[in-house]
Amino acid sequence: MRNTKINSKYEICEQGIIVDQSSIYMIAVLICHNPDFSNSKYVRLSWFKDPAHIHWGMIQIREKAVLANTIRALETIDKNFDEEFEWIGSSDPLADPNLNDDKFLHYKIVDRKCPNCGKTLKKRLKFYECENEDCGDLFVIVNGIPLKDFPSEQLPLRFVKNLPVTFYLPFVGITTKIHVGDWKAIAIIYKDTNPDRKWLRFYWWVRDLQPYLESQLTIDIEANKSLAWESKKGVKSPNIHDKKLIKPLIEALKIIESIWV
Ligand SMILES: [Zn+2]
Repeated sequence: MRNTKINSKYEICEQGIIVDQSSIYMIAVLICHNPDFSNSKYVRLSWFKDPAHIHWGMIQIREKAVLANTIRALETIDKNFDEEFEWIGSSDPLADPNLNDDKFLHYKIVDRKCPNCGKTLKKRLKFYECENEDCGDLFVIVNGIPLKDFPSEQLPLRFVKNLPVTFYLPFVGITTKIHVGDWKAIAIIYKDTNPDRKWLRFYWWVRDLQPYLESQLTIDIEANKSLAWESKKGVKSPNIHDKKLIKPLIEALKIIESIWV
């Protein structure tokens, strides 16, 4: 906490590992909690800039499986890229087919039964809803397909190209978490004006499906906008330009993994 400019009104850093620092920036892996919920600990990959250590980027991880995925994805990236983030893997990464989020999230409802409690699911205009009021589970229907959070333990951790990256272009990336409204990935990206200069960037997209769910129109262009993935506020710029940092980052994440309870 002493070494960061984290705002103690919102977050308390318990301990952390500095992965790299210079006079102008610092990258660290932290274990934090919300001031009101000291038992709800999470991991925060954090970027700070300037000698004052101003917040410059972050990814929060709240599930063990997502932390494990992050470590494995970084190991895969480390192995398949050279120091300039050029591909050195054994096969063409582009030969691997894309996986789309509908395929990940597609939930095949059996007999219209709720998977949590077994009661009947009622079909509404844009979602299935469990009739059991104590459960109330809800499955958003998008393009006729009911969606459900994909279990992070089962992600294939494969390179794909179809990530909702804006401003830059994704060369390839690996999804480490995909839920109906929350998606995390690590991508190798570049600018369209300079495809030779690539770097690594952590991504965290979210979407608030409420306007879509609440719309009573079958086709509602305004409400459908809430289906689009957007970068989560506050994520800023979690970039790795120096590939040599990946190994110490992996080591730090592994130590944090061993002490995060
Ligand atoms: Zn239910």
